[in-house]
Amino acid sequence: MYKVSMHNHTNLGDAQDTPEAMARTAYVQGFTHFAFTEHALNPGFPDITLTDEHIVPYMKAICDLKARYCNAMEVTLGIELDYFTNPDGRRGSWGLQVEALRGAFDFIIGSVHEIPFEDKYYSFNRAGEIDTLLNLSGRSAASVVTQYYETEMDMLETVQPEILGHMDLIKKCNERDRLYAEGSHRIRALKEKVVECAKKYDTIIEVNTGGISRYGAHAVYPTVEVLKMCRRKGVPVTIGADAHNTKDIYAHYELALSMLKEAGIREIAVFEGKKLKMLPLDEQKEMAV
Ligand SMILES: [Zn+2]
Ligand SMILES: [Zn+2]
Repeated sequence: MYKVSMHNHTNLGDAQDTPEAMARTAYVQGFTHFAFTEHALNPGFPDITLTDEHIVPYMKAICDLKARYCNAMEVTLGIELDYFTNPDGRRGSWGLQVEALRGAFDFIIGSVHEIPFEDKYYSFNRAGEIDTLLNLSGRSAASVVTQYYETEMDMLETVQPEILGHMDLIKKCNERDRLYAEGSHRIRALKEKVVECAKKYDTIIEVNTGGISRYGAHAVYPTVEVLKMCRRKGVPVTIGADAHNTKDIYAHYELALSMLKEAGIREIAVFEGKKLKMLPLDEQKEMAV
């Protein structure tokens, strides 16, 4: 009887609710495994990501909750590493940052939110920025989409995170297929390469329900087709609410479960401390409230 969210945020980063409120809500809703994954420092957004002075209070807050919920709910201390290469393609001080974080946290979510062009980054969290990129650069949507997935593969190789965050984040910007046709052979091949890359580096792929909460039904990621690729290639899968407030913790959870089942997946990956466990999907906990 399990209920799992391996990806959640708090008001110590860019979200609305306190760690205490998030944990309490998850517990009341019957979650057995609940991870906090605040954003690691992104120098472009120091107010909503963990600066040096904020990282220790974050760790302390989550460790206090680990102690408070021990024997009741498995609380884990993760971090979401926002990957960005330098605009010239160099990787800067990534190696050092990654190694420091790896020891301090139970696990790392590696995520690509933005891609560089010339001297700026453009975020897939905001469709308007991608329109600006297309207008300014004169590039095709196809080349931008390819760059997004290639950056994810670069991130997997460089960071080797335990979990790949929202593999299809780009879907947020693809309402009514404005950037690419979801079912096209080209997109399928790109996604397949990402799944193979995840396999190579032992990275788990998440079903991220947060996109649906914040961007609507078109932003379910990844698709059942990708989950089937994960099953065929032996890539473990987990569920992350990517919740930025208490009401989104359970939102769309049942949809995520049904997608996993439709894809023929029978186990869900979780962390208990730094330890990876595979839990049987058929024993998911029923909603408590
Ligand atoms: Zn993210
Ligand atoms: Zn997140």
